[in-house]
Amino acid sequence: MNRLKNITKILVLLLFIGIMGTACKDKAGGGGLNFFSLKDDITFGAQVAAEIETDTDTYPILDSAQHQEAYAYLYAIRDSILNSGAVMHKDDFQWQLRLIGDDETLNAFCTPGGYIYVYTGLIKYLDSEDQFAGVMGHEIAHADERHSTAALTRQYGLDVLLSILLGDNQGTLVQIAKGLSSLSYSRDNETESDMRSVEYLYPTAYDARGAARFFEKLEEEGEGGTPQFLSTHPNPDNRVEAILTHWESLGGKEGETFESRYTQFKNSLPQ
Ligand SMILES: [Zn+2]
Repeated sequence: MNRLKNITKILVLLLFIGIMGTACKDKAGGGGLNFFSLKDDITFGAQVAAEIETDTDTYPILDSAQHQEAYAYLYAIRDSILNSGAVMHKDDFQWQLRLIGDDETLNAFCTPGGYIYVYTGLIKYLDSEDQFAGVMGHEIAHADERHSTAALTRQYGLDVLLSILLGDNQGTLVQIAKGLSSLSYSRDNETESDMRSVEYLYPTAYDARGAARFFEKLEEEGEGGTPQFLSTHPNPDNRVEAILTHWESLGGKEGETFESRYTQFKNSLPQ
């Protein structure tokens, strides 16, 4: 009887190890362990987004009712990406988009569960809609591939994140929300998001090399110091080349840049 018990224990243990192995592999997202479930990402994302909405000093969000045309323009870009058929969690996540009125910050970010934030500083820096769509695709990929919760687990530890999920740790939630715009991803995650950006844009009217054009522009213009986007999105070697190679492997289809309507959009933003 004891022997049977032991065998049962071993079988249960083996089963557990098997499940854990699969879970780690599935959720690692190339950036280390991620014990969050999809549902956790959704819950956590909603908590963080609610906190961001209230922290108007850190995140001066432009009101969507007062800036309807700007939001309509941004929603159209977002929806082209979401309707590409390449976004895995299109129907699972919110994909809420907020425009942050800060011309000094050249950045964009996306929380777990798909809350997208773009700074007017980034929009005004870019030259064309495909560049912007490329960057938005890259940010959407961080949420879609669930990189953010992997990165947050590395930074804060699982216990802290779980306590927030349970509603027990408002102080750290506030801190995390403040730091989200400067959350740093692993190089593997960066490469993966670059590749996804190409895949998301490829079926759309956009030129799928938009993100590469943004990186080229940053390199060429030097930007006096490191723009926030690059400090939070480490620059793997040959980032541009990797994007171009991936684009070629998909067939090398050239798309639209929509430069003139993008210029009109930029000029319509508050100065
Ligand atoms: Zn990134």
